Amino acid sequence: MRSPNARIVLDYFYGRDVLFWFIGTAVLSVWFVFHDPRFDNRALLLGVLLPDAVDAVWGGARGLHSVSGSVVILAIVMVATAGRKPIRRRLLAVPIGTFLHLIFDGAFNSTKVFWWPVTGLSFDGDRLPIVERGMVNLALEILGIVMCVFAWRRFGLSDPARRREFVTTGSLHE
Ligand SMILES: [Zn+2]
Repeated sequence: MRSPNARIVLDYFYGRDVLFWFIGTAVLSVWFVFHDPRFDNRALLLGVLLPDAVDAVWGGARGLHSVSGSVVILAIVMVATAGRKPIRRRLLAVPIGTFLHLIFDGAFNSTKVFWWPVTGLSFDGDRLPIVERGMVNLALEILGIVMCVFAWRRFGLSDPARRREFVTTGSLHE
């Protein structure tokens, strides 16, 4: 049993430090599936990092680690962008990112949270999957860094013009 203080420290590190795993898996999955140079990867990154950032505030795996959370974000994007196709295209990358977070976080391992609120309204203090994994995160993070280096090269991001294009439009292409 860990003391509450040790748990807070662990939550702090594991809850915030695994970034490259999500960035690498999201960017590469979307590229291999869609091959779309117009895809807004900035919105994708916002989506894939959102669940841990938001749910950590509540102290663990909450609504954004459930399928319903992503469906609600998807619905908000569809309603808010009705009749505005270009912006809808961009913003759809956010729920795509939150869905990908669920997959690469292994969020489906917690049936109760994943299917919330279908399986009941309470969360029973479920911690973030990232916190539950502990040291496995280190391996995931190393893999994530490898994927990010791969993506950096593949998308030619050592070229300042390519980097500027990514920052201003979200576009990544070979
Ligand atoms: Zn998570």
